[in-house]
Amino acid sequence: MSALYGALLVLTGCTVAPSDTAAAPEPERPTSVILMIADGTGTAYWTAARMVAQELEVERFSVMGLVDTQSSDSRVTDSAAGATAFASGVRTYNGAIGVTPDTVPVPTILEMAQDQGKATGLVATARINHATPAAFAAHVAHRGMYSEIVDQMLERSVTVMLGGGRGFFDGTLRPDSQNVLAAVLDRYTYVRTPAELRALDPDTVDMLLGLLAVNDLPNYRQRGIELEELIATALQVLARDEDGFFLMVEGSQLDWRGHDNAALADLVDEVLDFDRAVGAALDYQAEHPGTLVVVTADHETGGMALHPNRAGELVTNYTTTGHSAEMVPLFAVGPGAERFGGIKDNYVVGRILIDLLGGEPPPAVTAR
Ligand code: MG
Ligand code: ZN
Repeated sequence: MSALYGALLVLTGCTVAPSDTAAAPEPERPTSVILMIADGTGTAYWTAARMVAQELEVERFSVMGLVDTQSSDSRVTDSAAGATAFASGVRTYNGAIGVTPDTVPVPTILEMAQDQGKATGLVATARINHATPAAFAAHVAHRGMYSEIVDQMLERSVTVMLGGGRGFFDGTLRPDSQNVLAAVLDRYTYVRTPAELRALDPDTVDMLLGLLAVNDLPNYRQRGIELEELIATALQVLARDEDGFFLMVEGSQLDWRGHDNAALADLVDEVLDFDRAVGAALDYQAEHPGTLVVVTADHETGGMALHPNRAGELVTNYTTTGHSAEMVPLFAVGPGAERFGGIKDNYVVGRILIDLLGGEPPPAVTAR
């Protein structure tokens, strides 16, 4: 070492000495993560809901971003590739569930959280083995492999699963007719209806399997339960784990109203149901500041815009019955929230989530 460099080190040491006694600030990391995916929800969906409700729960966020949603094989993603981007930090092909473009399984943030001793949860208003929740706890080459997805989810022992899809567990909707429920009922508290769910005392439940419909849950008006109730129950069970938790909540049917090219009122029903659930997550976060809440969408559906009709009322107008390439909004609060601000590719959102939970994002990233 040169004398000059040595002297510099001494000088530097002197300069920083007073702060040596104070611990260097740890990077802010969440204990728990709530990721909420409003499937198909672009900015026009939020605009429509805000016109009806005047004030939305998502207005409580101060960090916002935009997410570029494309997949590895299309400018327009599907929900499988979209969810895999968030779950595993990779950009993969449409239809892929938890696998790379070469169909190699890639670890998910839910699995990483579980490896750290955290509780895990999946909540959806579709069948629980539908593409979005599936990508967090299963690895299959195509989203249509519903029985295989259920088998992997049960093997994974996700702490809380609430949604539809009973037929894929009791065998009635499985090509192999196998009942895979019986083998897990010693582990799980199992409910089949909103009434049974409400009768539970979540503070006494260790693991919860709520399969509230044979297939997908009905649309908002027929559903008989709010997403807000589902998330509240899930949070009560998950919060019992002192190591924290990872919870993914999907508003599954905003996307389906978009595919239906639904009228404004029917679309807004689903957006507001999701927004009230966001409110529940934000209330929880306010009481548990170590929790990171991220709300976003996997893609926009319908290419929807709002225009006045002849009577001057704004109505929904769609450019497609499929998905669009439009960027979608993201909202975040809690430790690390500011890292989600600005414009991000969807798989980068996944990589930030994984990094914040102390996991290792996968080395191979598919570039744009
Ligand atoms: Mg979905
Ligand atoms: Zn869709």
